[in-house]
Amino acid sequence: MILLDGKKTSEAIQNEIAAEVAEIKAHGGKIPHLAAVLVGNDGGSVTYVTNKVLACEKVGFGSSLIRYEDDVTEEELLNKIQELNEDDEIDGFIVQLPLPKHINTQKVLEAVDPRKDVDGFHPANVGRMVAGLSSFLPATPYGILQLIERYQIETNGKHCVVIGRSNIVGSPMSILMSKAAYPGNATVTLCHRNTIDLAYYTRQADIIIAAVGIPGLITEDMVKEGAVVIDVGTTRVPDATRKSGYRLRGDVDFDNVAPKCSYITPVPGGVGPLTIAMLLKNTLKAAKREVYA
Ligand code: ADP
Repeated sequence: MILLDGKKTSEAIQNEIAAEVAEIKAHGGKIPHLAAVLVGNDGGSVTYVTNKVLACEKVGFGSSLIRYEDDVTEEELLNKIQELNEDDEIDGFIVQLPLPKHINTQKVLEAVDPRKDVDGFHPANVGRMVAGLSSFLPATPYGILQLIERYQIETNGKHCVVIGRSNIVGSPMSILMSKAAYPGNATVTLCHRNTIDLAYYTRQADIIIAAVGIPGLITEDMVKEGAVVIDVGTTRVPDATRKSGYRLRGDVDFDNVAPKCSYITPVPGGVGPLTIAMLLKNTLKAAKREVYA
């Protein structure tokens, strides 16, 4: 059994990005710049955005954090997005989700210029991904593809069972794994909350990608010997022995499933650490005009 080390892979990717930025600097090119828009003071969102900005500094990117109170109007937010769309200094930007209820999230996401949409949430990027055109891939699926590639996991002709159909993880993952190029060429089954007899499908899987948010949903009896298991779940469960009072648990019953696997991601330290690295990679691509050439 081989552990898929997301932390190490993320560091490797960030080092590669830092080296490219140093190269750009040496040639007097434009330093990539990521902006993040944050509305409100939700603890999780503040932490995520702060980490994204810190990661920019670490690889040598420019970064801007634009903050609004919870009561910001939709119009104000849309005006700021327009400004960011037109600002040549900004190569890419993100609007941290979730947004307050009085703001139409879809309208906000669609206001972002697809060429600067480094989260890959704009329908233009989703459509391009489905059509097999170059696009900004959402960070989590992009990170999973990197893990598969860097560990040279075989996907050709394999049966990949994706569990969960969210717009940002399960659905794009199922599409990407079925694409006619590595890391794809898999036969894909997409399971979700209406699936009858989930175990029937997972037991046939060569590759399981679980993005559900139910701790321990995937148990030992549901996994074939030698399977590759990628766990996207990160649910906070109470843990009195931790200073924080909680720990993260994945969708997979790791202790019992791991011995049967050829490869498995730990939680934490698997898919999670890759998301920031992939956001940086998208920003570098935006700066280099690689996606919309
Ligand atoms: P994320 O964005 O991290 O993928 P979401 O909470 O948006 O997570 O989506 C969870 C997904 O998990 C949904 O697509 C839902 O259909 C799926 N799901 C929920 N419960 C089950 C279940 N018991 N079995 C299979 N899939 C489930």
